[in-house]
Amino acid sequence: MRCPRCNGVDDKVIDSRSTEDGAAIRRRRQCESCSTRFTTIERLESVVLSVIKRDGRRVPYDRSKVEAGVQAACKGRPIEPGDVASLADRVEERLAVSKGDVTADEVGQVVLGELRELDRVAAVRFASVYKSFDDPQDFEREVKLLETDQ
Ligand SMILES: [Zn+2]
Repeated sequence: MRCPRCNGVDDKVIDSRSTEDGAAIRRRRQCESCSTRFTTIERLESVVLSVIKRDGRRVPYDRSKVEAGVQAACKGRPIEPGDVASLADRVEERLAVSKGDVTADEVGQVVLGELRELDRVAAVRFASVYKSFDDPQDFEREVKLLETDQ
């Protein structure tokens, strides 16, 4: 996105939030060259993801839920502003490959995979709070990964 002041193309996202109806994402950006701040609004172009819950219900994918879960897991952790939004972007890119339907567990696994790259402690918290695993051994594996990281 070109900076409205200097036309520079490099910017970083400093804040990101869903609009009230959840249909768009408003991003506050800062130009890397001149530090001008500006806002972009992004809407889903075509891919609409459905999430199949464990009880078989199909619900629309809700980015704000993913962000809220990640945010909660990252509480007090040294993450940068914008990290949660870019994580949610990567999660959507990975889920979009499946074109349409994903299970709630798949969403959890993808989020966890990305979160592990960002912050191991947050990943373990996410795994424990959201129980995206059926197998307790998966959780133990996360804890072991955390331990070997230190
Ligand atoms: Zn600029």
